[in-house]
Amino acid sequence: MIPGPIEFEPEVMMAVGAPTTSHVAPDFIESFGHALEMMREVWLAPSGQPFIMAGSGTLAMDLAGANLTEPGDRALVISTGYFGDRYAGLLRRYGAEVTVLRAPVGETVALRAVEDELKRTRYKLMTFTHVDTSTAVRVDPEPLGALGEKYGVITVLDGVCSVAGEIIRQDEWGIDVVLTASQKAVGVPPGLALLVASPRAMEAWQKRKSPVGSYYSDWSHWLPVMKAYEERRPAYFGTPAVNLVSGLEVSLRLILKEGMEARFRRHRERGAAFREAMRDMGLRMIPVSEEVCANTLSAPYYPEGLKGADFMKAIASSDVILAGGLLPGIKDTYFRVGHMGSVTEGDILATVSAIRSALSACGYSYR
Ligand SMILES: *Cc1c(COP(=O)(O)O)cnc(C)c1O
Repeated sequence: MIPGPIEFEPEVMMAVGAPTTSHVAPDFIESFGHALEMMREVWLAPSGQPFIMAGSGTLAMDLAGANLTEPGDRALVISTGYFGDRYAGLLRRYGAEVTVLRAPVGETVALRAVEDELKRTRYKLMTFTHVDTSTAVRVDPEPLGALGEKYGVITVLDGVCSVAGEIIRQDEWGIDVVLTASQKAVGVPPGLALLVASPRAMEAWQKRKSPVGSYYSDWSHWLPVMKAYEERRPAYFGTPAVNLVSGLEVSLRLILKEGMEARFRRHRERGAAFREAMRDMGLRMIPVSEEVCANTLSAPYYPEGLKGADFMKAIASSDVILAGGLLPGIKDTYFRVGHMGSVTEGDILATVSAIRSALSACGYSYR
């Protein structure tokens, strides 16, 4: 029950564990092409250009950063925690002049403040984290996409902890890049960076004056490969993660079989049920209100006086695996529970019960 790698469906593991085939074998070309097509449906981005690359979520962040910034470009980073701060550092590496609007812990940045900043300064790019995995704070991407369109700024949504869990309608919301990694709500073992770029983002990349600052991430190498696979032709730039792509095809199929709306609803219900159980035990969440709570993971504070190390030790002897805190400065004051992907009601109940036992073992009594 950690926020990635999550539990994977047996069918996905079967596909990942099958004998490795050639990356240009006809059945693999079919899987790759089909996975690209299905990404558009999962992202709700019929006009988007999907990319599947070997790497982690940070590579997906790098793809957007490297291809869409040139030295001297201005970038606005809306940070709700650890991963927003990471994006600021990444964009600076490619020569961007970065301004960070940082929310207080547990809160989001007010839309008003974002719009004021966009009015004040002309930005090329704006990034925001849908669910910051360090705080479980969820940002509403829709109005930020609208601001991007209004001010002509390319919008990049870090959806590593949200795609295929939280509601995302990339085309309808006008968000230019939505990126994620395989091991979170998409439900495939770690190793794939996934991204869908809008026609406007691809145009901005085509219009660049300077070469892309990363050799590996450069879309010039990868766009022809993605196009070829989608047209069911062999192509090569770097060897794809064959087994993981096969697993991705199966997982996307399962996601679409459930249906995006049903999947969004299930995550919302499971998330709300888990938070309610935590509140019943007297635990407070990092996000300051229900409206900004993620549905893919939760981050409850430890009760007053309880030592995080003692709690994690008690949890380690249960059969539930949880994650500790991540945000520098407060990481020892809270823990994190992922509830995304194939998580069932039974998983939620077992987790709540393990947390209750661990709290009792640490001498915490509630009601
Ligand atoms: C996990 C995560 C990342 C980083 O992904 P890696 O696969 O660990 O590189 C980036 N952003 C968010 C929101 C994440 O949850």
